Amino acid sequence: MSWEVSYKKGVWLPQLGWWLDCQNGMPRSFVSHAHSDHIARHRESLCTPATGRLMQERLGGRRQMTALRYGEKHALALGCEVQLYPAGHILGSAQFHATTEHGTLLYTGDFKLRAGLAAEPCVTPHADVLIMETTFGRPHYVMPPTEQVHADIIAFCRQALADGATPVLYAYALGKTQELVQLLGQAGLPIQLAPAAYRMTKVYEELGQKMPPYAEFEQNRHAGHVVIMPHRSPQLDWINPKRTAAVTGWAIDSSTKYQYGCDAAFPLSDHADYHDLLTFVERVQPKVVYTLHGFAKEFALTLRQRGIEAWAIGQGNQLELSL
Ligand SMILES: [Zn+2]
Repeated sequence: MSWEVSYKKGVWLPQLGWWLDCQNGMPRSFVSHAHSDHIARHRESLCTPATGRLMQERLGGRRQMTALRYGEKHALALGCEVQLYPAGHILGSAQFHATTEHGTLLYTGDFKLRAGLAAEPCVTPHADVLIMETTFGRPHYVMPPTEQVHADIIAFCRQALADGATPVLYAYALGKTQELVQLLGQAGLPIQLAPAAYRMTKVYEELGQKMPPYAEFEQNRHAGHVVIMPHRSPQLDWINPKRTAAVTGWAIDSSTKYQYGCDAAFPLSDHADYHDLLTFVERVQPKVVYTLHGFAKEFALTLRQRGIEAWAIGQGNQLELSL
């Protein structure tokens, strides 16, 4: 017997009767983290306590939820024991590790190996079957050293402020924003956040993350601050003069700056880059790999060329560029 794995807007494990990160509401689904393309109104969900809290903030309402701490063992179904491991993507993000008579299975959700300023460090347990995200599954997606990108972002903000312009960083409200708040706070820069980003940062604090000072965006009192907001935020029109930058792993592509219509783009990502995807597979030592998201087909081919059985499941969505 071996693991059965299929994909339809989420990973389906028929032998367990559970979905993994299904985008439609399902009777039972594991939720790896609280980004909007991974959450839905499931009848019953399994996640970390932090993901449960963040999901509650985003979806509202009440639903059945099993909150499992990292490393805690849980009998998910008959003959199946599950443990969650940190994925290093955003606060509370988890990988799903199941042990049954079919052997072990690891599902990464979104992950990164590089250390972040606002997420738990990623862990790489062994598994027979690995289902992994491959957003940056092409060889040219190699992120520069994080310290270098950090220094470039701080220099960009300081220069804009020195020139009398407001630096605006485009970033996801959840995860990337809190990483930037930590970075800019350590550099002593004053910060204002768009309303959704502000709310999420408050939840990070509630969950025990120590954050430097920050404030909510104010229409008439933002001068002298670094403003963090999602791309195309309505508040953007109120900021003049401004200097804008996208903060995304896609900044590796030189066209990103023009696609976002911004002055600069910085490759700070909460996803594994190409090298880290390969390192991850080496550490997990799987017998078979299923790839999904981004360059799934290309990365599966790369693994096969290295003698590892690998298959792309789901749909490639390498054009997913929204912040
Ligand atoms: Zn994510």
